[in-house]
Amino acid sequence: MSTRGDRHLWAIQLAKHLAALGARLKTIHLITGIQPRQVQSLFFPDARSIPRGRAPDSAEWYHGANLILRTDACIIGAKYKQLRNQGLTAGESLILAYRSYQAATLPPYRISLDRAFNLVSYIDGIWLAREPTLSILTCSACNCEFIAAVGTVTPPGEACLFCKLVERFHVDHRIQASYPVHPVIDMAEHQLGMLALLHKLNPGAEGNTPNE
Ligand SMILES: [Zn+2]
Repeated sequence: MSTRGDRHLWAIQLAKHLAALGARLKTIHLITGIQPRQVQSLFFPDARSIPRGRAPDSAEWYHGANLILRTDACIIGAKYKQLRNQGLTAGESLILAYRSYQAATLPPYRISLDRAFNLVSYIDGIWLAREPTLSILTCSACNCEFIAAVGTVTPPGEACLFCKLVERFHVDHRIQASYPVHPVIDMAEHQLGMLALLHKLNPGAEGNTPNE
């Protein structure tokens, strides 16, 4: 990324993807640096199409959310962290993690792009957050990655929310209605907890076993 022009084009491109995913003007502004008014004139020529409503103001909701919402959050958070570790920018990682989430679940999407933005801010200590207050842990039983408050120590062998989800899948219609048994996801993306769920539901159905 050499010139100012390159950086500007890049920011516009990010903004376009974010707008398509339903992000608010302020969210797009915080991620790309483009002024809300300009975002509006570029991507929301019809003012009635601007996303409205209150923005989520903290990540506290995660701790009190139900199993399905927390699973959704973990799919986004784990994917985001994985992409950040691979060297992608925060903006790119958010967009790709949100798309992975959409591919692994069934609409209507319970977590909005703005909510995902809020969540990863607190995982990374950027944008809305001064420091990280959420971290990604790996379950010792199923290897899925899940979100926990920074400093959380889980006793070995304690079931994570993916363990619970798999356990309840067959008896809980809400869970069945929330996730496809064959999620449309890239099989190389073994970090997604849903893939582990798929394996447990269909043992031997796929050749690859998630092992990281
Ligand atoms: Zn687990």
